Amino acid sequence: MGSSFNIRCKHCGYYKEFSIGIGMMYSPESIIDINSKDCLLPKLIRSKKAVQQIRLFFGEKKAVLADGYGHWIYHCTKCGEFYGRFFLHLDYKGGSYEVEYKCPACHIELSPVAHESDDILQRGEVNADMEEYHCPKCGMHDLVEDHSNLVMWD
Ligand SMILES: [Zn+2]
Ligand SMILES: [Zn+2]
Repeated sequence: MGSSFNIRCKHCGYYKEFSIGIGMMYSPESIIDINSKDCLLPKLIRSKKAVQQIRLFFGEKKAVLADGYGHWIYHCTKCGEFYGRFFLHLDYKGGSYEVEYKCPACHIELSPVAHESDDILQRGEVNADMEEYHCPKCGMHDLVEDHSNLVMWD
């Protein structure tokens, strides 16, 4: 079951809600089975190019899906904004792959916000570490997790 994570700035009131983790339908098969019409991947990752790449990794390179995939929070180091994106890590012989996302405003690569452990997403007990980030709106070092509007989703 997925949950939510809300970020708030104590200084200026910046507020953003994120759905994180995975739903009940998000079995590894529903992600790996890329040729099935029920495959969830194209819905989770909107970039056709990335889905195409993943298809190749699962096919030709016999990649395996690592634990800890799920909706997560990404951060732009340039404008400081946070975005909800789907995190996924693949391992294959000789390397690994993670989906890359770009900031819609700055067009630079987003990085996943730090979390406590790799497989924590699947247990739905996520704790993002907001301490190292500055508010995208006012630039102050005052971001906190807002617990006032937590939702569980399937
Ligand atoms: Zn602020
Ligand atoms: Zn940006």
